[in-house]
Amino acid sequence: MAIEDLKNRGMERADVDKRRKAVEEITGAKLDNVSSYPFEPQAAAANIENMIGVVQIPMGFAGPVKVNGDEAEGEFIIPLATTEGALIASIARGMSVISAAGGARVKVFRDGMTRAPVFRVKGIDHAAEVMAWVNDNPDKIIEAVKGTTSHGQLTQIEFFPNGRSLHMRFTFDTGDAMGMNMATIASEAVCRLIAENTGAEMVSVSGNMCTDKKPAAINMIEGRGKTVIAEATIPKQLAEEKLHAPVHAIVETNTRKNLIGSAMAGGLGFNAHAANMVAALYLATGQDPAQVVEASSTMTVCEEVDGDLYISVRMPAVEIGTVGGGTKLPAQSEALSMIDCKGAGKARKFAELVAVTVLAGELSTLGAQAAGHLGKAHADLGRVKK
Ligand code: NAP
Repeated sequence: MAIEDLKNRGMERADVDKRRKAVEEITGAKLDNVSSYPFEPQAAAANIENMIGVVQIPMGFAGPVKVNGDEAEGEFIIPLATTEGALIASIARGMSVISAAGGARVKVFRDGMTRAPVFRVKGIDHAAEVMAWVNDNPDKIIEAVKGTTSHGQLTQIEFFPNGRSLHMRFTFDTGDAMGMNMATIASEAVCRLIAENTGAEMVSVSGNMCTDKKPAAINMIEGRGKTVIAEATIPKQLAEEKLHAPVHAIVETNTRKNLIGSAMAGGLGFNAHAANMVAALYLATGQDPAQVVEASSTMTVCEEVDGDLYISVRMPAVEIGTVGGGTKLPAQSEALSMIDCKGAGKARKFAELVAVTVLAGELSTLGAQAAGHLGKAHADLGRVKK
């Protein structure tokens, strides 16, 4: 019976139990911990197939952190899910320094989710004809998008012709959703329309110039999702007292490590560990964890200004939502409510808090490395005492 039970597709608790028992029987593994979770599996029906239970990740908090954002204003306790000891302690230290310095300023500079289909065309003249048809028919294209979503709006189409391939990069305003399903469904409708009217053949709705879940310069340069910048000025004395490093040492560590070192490595991320903060916050709040890849293209900048430390993080691609995807799962939805970022009207506020959390983690780690403390913190906090 075990193999037959694997084929059951139901999302009642009994269906999940049957599948898990079949997996236990086939693999010989005991899955007692996987079997223990408080919500009904139907809550995850749109998020998973072949569900057999739940893997739990410890969740903690960092903060409060003082934020002066366009949307996020006040003090916030940030939910973080991780298995890396010392990570939350470090972010919390950065947040206490930022708060003592008066808080972080943060702003969303660009907002738009992209999907980039690729068409097969007959050659460069055909490519030019297809581009002209798209430019001449915005109303028909907007109508096609409207047929698929009430919240999504197409805001831009860019063309990248290359021989018999024609790539187009569509940008959508996706409201408070991260928008990948929304943009994909809408893009397919637009592609059908283009194909019917121009003879171009859609090869893939995603021709990889989107670029989703892969490191890519286009996201760094043009942005994807939300482009957010957070900054703070840390007075000289505060930096020395709390981070145990002089301002010039933190600035030099950032320049030689995050800028020169990353450039020499051919990196697309110019930061110390932005992915750490992003992954922990995304996991806690039901974001798509694979999009940590794009968020890791953060650039951290440090300057000495009038003796104080100016630090900023530019995050070109913060792909987040406060509706849809995993945000409606029960625990993740509770985590979003900790920062008042649950539901409609909260996506930009949440993106600002992502950037502030990254700023705090960058500040603390740069301080620790400038002071030579990084290894000790991990040895003290990240290792089980013998
Ligand atoms: P979604 O849950 O598929 O769609 C969002 C839904 O929320 C839509 O039905 C939208 O309605 C509705 N909505 C209600 N209030 C809204 C508001 N204020 N703002 C925006 N939408 C609102 O989520 P998604 O964000 O489009 O996609 C995220 C999911 O896509 C994640 O699970 C992610 O893992 C997955 N993903 C998919 C792909 C792909 O290629 N398909 C790639 C990467 C990730 P209307 O649209 O009807 O107006």
